[in-house]
Amino acid sequence: MKLHEYQAKALLSRYGVPVPRSEVASSLSQVRGSAESFNGKCVVKVQIHAGGRGKSGGVKLVDSVDMAEEVAEQLLSNNIVTHQTSPEGVPVNDLLIEEALDVAKELYLSILVDGGLGKVIVMASEAGGMEIEQVAEDTPDKILREAIDPTVGLMTYQARNLAIGLGLDKELHGQFIKLLSGAFEAFIQTDCSLIEINPLAVTAQGKLLAIDAKASIDDDALFRQKDESLDYDSRQEPQIEKLARTSGLSYVKLDGDVGCLVNGAGLAMATMDVTMAAGATPANFLDVGGGADVDKVHKAIEILLSDPGVKKVFVNIFGGILRCDVVAEGILAATKASKSDVPPIVVRMLGTNADEGRKILKEANIGVHLVNDFTEATKTIKSLS
Ligand code: GDP
Ligand code: MN
Repeated sequence: MKLHEYQAKALLSRYGVPVPRSEVASSLSQVRGSAESFNGKCVVKVQIHAGGRGKSGGVKLVDSVDMAEEVAEQLLSNNIVTHQTSPEGVPVNDLLIEEALDVAKELYLSILVDGGLGKVIVMASEAGGMEIEQVAEDTPDKILREAIDPTVGLMTYQARNLAIGLGLDKELHGQFIKLLSGAFEAFIQTDCSLIEINPLAVTAQGKLLAIDAKASIDDDALFRQKDESLDYDSRQEPQIEKLARTSGLSYVKLDGDVGCLVNGAGLAMATMDVTMAAGATPANFLDVGGGADVDKVHKAIEILLSDPGVKKVFVNIFGGILRCDVVAEGILAATKASKSDVPPIVVRMLGTNADEGRKILKEANIGVHLVNDFTEATKTIKSLS
């Protein structure tokens, strides 16, 4: 679950990480009030669940209250598009009005789960700021890494190693170690999957501060993270993902053109592999789960059909608790309700009530391609491209 910058900063601040003074504003009068408290010298920042704001005009340094209001009016009335959003962009409901600092150097610091290592790692770079992705690509050795042993947590020597690697002046080492320890504690206590501070600023006055912050909480730990300040802003969520989440479907959008509907995560992954082997690319991962009913299958197909990238659909069901006739009814209901043209649907059904399911689809005459196995499925998908 993604948090807004202002939520991430409040969280970090509770764990002793220094952040600039700031206020959230969602109306022009609030913007004026906040800008006045900083004597007009402030940064106006859109609060969205995506990065790349600086490069897309979502972060503006202003030096008067009037200018803050002018910039805010512009930002609040439009969606913003960054390289991390969809082409339509995301709405701007809130702004963060933050004191402007005299930044001498921009560093990068993040804490995340490294799936390969099975550990939490800390990454840091002296080349922080808006070009960090380019730095990682062109000069990966500029990114420092420390893997954290889960049994002992972050050790002071690891934080000191990073401080030295970042080339920080000796006087800043203490500040850095304290800041990283605080951020690490916040990460663990709040069940984060990511905390990213970019930039971590060294000010002209010799202070370290998080001037940007991103945080995500592991969805599977949300049941025990009840803190109200960590509330999810669902206005930032793409429509399709919201529908999937509220319908209890595991859905991840991908770039291909074959919409996949499967039951079970293992079969879903195998289905994606088979799709790739057929020379096609999956448009998504979608697991309807074991206990789906007609309505849930209907919603799943609806989600696939509402993706303009989907040119064909591959339904791969191994019926167990989920009956194949239920899946067939769901497919039927969704294609009937669809307002746009339905792309070809390849269906492989085995297991509980497979014959009934296939009969329903055959009789409905909606151009479903029924196949018996993976080989036939790949052939059919290929022939449809
Ligand atoms: P992002 O592009 O979405 O990551 O947004 P950031 O919050 O990182 O802001 C982009 C850039 O704005 C930063 O890399 C800084 O260079 C600049 N910036 C943000 N806040 C301040 C500030 O208080 N003072 C100064 N001088 N620059 C700032
Ligand atoms: Mn940033």
